Amino acid sequence: MSISLKRVRNEVQAILVEAGLPAYPVVQFQPLDVEHARNPRRYAQVRTGEDPRMEVAGAIRDLPPEQRLGLYSHEVGHFLWPAGGEDDADMAAQGLLGVHIGYDRRWPGKGLQTAILAPKKLWRIVGEPVGARIRAANGFPRG
Ligand SMILES: [Zn+2]
Repeated sequence: MSISLKRVRNEVQAILVEAGLPAYPVVQFQPLDVEHARNPRRYAQVRTGEDPRMEVAGAIRDLPPEQRLGLYSHEVGHFLWPAGGEDDADMAAQGLLGVHIGYDRRWPGKGLQTAILAPKKLWRIVGEPVGARIRAANGFPRG
């Protein structure tokens, strides 16, 4: 089930604020839709520096809460540590948001960012995880 772009924007901005950052703009970016069609890992990217913003592919709206939270947290990690690399973004997300990011190997290469463990207040932003193991690890009831 797909969510609206407005909801994606609200979720990302709520997480930016949780990270102590401004609610930067979140926009659907057509070239990323094209890239996503070729490389299914490409759902989001950030521009830091002047005019900071997050750009997303429309397909991000189809992902379950744990993968949206993993992706958002990784991208927020890039804002938190603009000079850092990919692992640094995950480290920043873990240190400053408390989100532990794993990689779902059903996606190619390194896999797709997935929140494995996160504070309840962040699950309240995106909704309860769908993955049974992630639900259990975060203390949600079975089902
Ligand atoms: Zn990245």
